Amino acid sequence: MKTSLLFAIIIGLVFSLSGFTGYFEKPLVVKPEELKGWINYLASDQMRGRANGSPEMNTAANWLTERYKEYGLLPVMPNGGYIQNYSFSSRQRTINERNVIGMIKGTDPLLKDQYIILSAHFDHIGVRKGNDADSIYNGADDNAAGTCTLLGIAKTIKESRLKPGRTVVFAAFSGEESGMRGSRFFVANSPVSLKNVYADINFEMTGHSEYLGKNAYYMTGCKVSNLDNLIGVYNNKSDWKLIDTIALANNLFFASDNIAFSRISSADGVTQGIPSGTFATTTMADYIHKPNDEGKLFDYDNMAGLVWYFSNLIIWLSENKSEIQFTDPSFTRLK
Ligand SMILES: [Zn+2]
Repeated sequence: MKTSLLFAIIIGLVFSLSGFTGYFEKPLVVKPEELKGWINYLASDQMRGRANGSPEMNTAANWLTERYKEYGLLPVMPNGGYIQNYSFSSRQRTINERNVIGMIKGTDPLLKDQYIILSAHFDHIGVRKGNDADSIYNGADDNAAGTCTLLGIAKTIKESRLKPGRTVVFAAFSGEESGMRGSRFFVANSPVSLKNVYADINFEMTGHSEYLGKNAYYMTGCKVSNLDNLIGVYNNKSDWKLIDTIALANNLFFASDNIAFSRISSADGVTQGIPSGTFATTTMADYIHKPNDEGKLFDYDNMAGLVWYFSNLIIWLSENKSEIQFTDPSFTRLK
């Protein structure tokens, strides 16, 4: 006992003298192997590409609900549950789908009634016939990756006992691949007051590092609001960087669930003007919407670092006193 204690002190002393503090400052709560397990489940062939309306989407939603409970997320829906059901029609068929919603309550007396929404879609495009021997579109990076980033943040906040100032809402959306149906339904039927939503942080394609390099990501909508500048302040003391020079990111702002929060007009007749962005580590890659979008291509070490980084960034944003402003005058904040 005493020998081991002495040994631990010596090891600690050696590391602190050598300037090695990384491990002690950054004990990753969600390890690369755990992320790999989640991705291998959601993007497995048995999930058959998570097509909207499929039984596998119901299975995935139930699995997400169990993870939400395990990581201490509270229900948000008025009926005390995590599931937000909705339906839409596609090719003369009625598709029944659901979003999975949970939250961590804010602790700042002045900010706790405001919300940061963390979102990611968990649907993909299913099984399609083609020349390829592999007909299952696993959708590992698009978007089991973003979905597992949400789960990783929830678990990290719980186990690190981090306390957000604003309330953090976790929204796993279905229906994205069918026209952002889930996020549009959420915004049109929100269980929280949209007037009090500070921002939507949406995740897509966070599993790869070969495009931007390690510890780097981009945000869609850098030209639309000052959310990127605000994050830049945080990044001054971080080993992660936001790359804001990707031209494609301007168009991609309109191509994922974040736009349901920011858009200025829509078929639903809802105008919210909530600042948002989609956060990704991959620009348009050749595996997107192909059967080979599989988890074996991931850099899980990088992804685990990303989960840790965003967990802390979200806490920082949840306590931030400054308002996020649209810099594009065609978007206006809901009053
Ligand atoms: Zn996607």
